Amino acid sequence: MLIRPLGNGVLLDVGGARVAVDAPGPVHGATHFVTHAHTDHIGAAKSTQVITSPGSHEILKTVGGYSSTYIREGEVLTVGGTEISLIPAGHIPGSVQVVVDNGVRAVVTGDFKMERDVIEAGADIPEDVDVLILETTFGAPHHRFPERLVTYESMRRWIRANLDASNHVVLYGYAVGKSQELTAFLNSMGITPFVPFRTHQVNALLGLSDVLIGSEGWRERATEPSVFVLPPNFSKIVSALELELGRKVASRSCSGWAKNGFRLSSHADFVQTIRYVDAVEPKAVITYGRNAHRLATVLRGMGYDAQPLDRLILL
Ligand SMILES: [Zn+2]
Repeated sequence: MLIRPLGNGVLLDVGGARVAVDAPGPVHGATHFVTHAHTDHIGAAKSTQVITSPGSHEILKTVGGYSSTYIREGEVLTVGGTEISLIPAGHIPGSVQVVVDNGVRAVVTGDFKMERDVIEAGADIPEDVDVLILETTFGAPHHRFPERLVTYESMRRWIRANLDASNHVVLYGYAVGKSQELTAFLNSMGITPFVPFRTHQVNALLGLSDVLIGSEGWRERATEPSVFVLPPNFSKIVSALELELGRKVASRSCSGWAKNGFRLSSHADFVQTIRYVDAVEPKAVITYGRNAHRLATVLRGMGYDAQPLDRLILL
């Protein structure tokens, strides 16, 4: 098996199969897989046929007009004698890990998390893994998030306090993934948030309840203290919103990187990542992405055969 880095993804040559996961563009001779519909993972979908989960297939079609095919959980695709299947990654709706098996069994996690959220269960734990190719965004030991239920409770109290004080509330999160978690969370509080078009499109796929900003009558509905779920790049329009709707706006980011916001991440933190590796019990670990070197060092210290994917690896 040959494994090499490929943008935010991984390229595997396994027996007769060349498997490109989250490639930034088409790779000669490869079968292309997309683990989830975040923009930095879907480059190949723009110019070649990709295979993904049914959920990501719908999101790709809806937000980008990209055509893709999909395999369902439990289905196996055979390419050049190698069996490929997809299992849930718990990162965002539709996110999957890619399992590649031709006698040696490798798993590419893609972005993943262990913790259950209001929409997603945590990542599935694959069995009998020889090579675990592990995404390590928050793989440094100081990356530790509070428990989600604790964060949800802080959010709930902060939102209620601001609405009681007659403020509007803005929660920032990416349009695909985080915004659906925020919308589902608000729906669970009995709140229907105001959202922009892209968020509304993906929310609709999941049957979530929102009000599209710009739709007929939205401004009248927003005269009462209201909650808005906006992508981070909308932060510049918040002062305009304050003027437009005539209320003070209280805003918070919702991200693993948030310093003054709610640390609500779609990724595993360091503790979850270690817990995942311990649950999988792989024979070898290859780390990729941010913090790949640091986590490989930690895992070696724990007795794992671990190395970062910064060059071609032959196993
Ligand atoms: Zn992602």
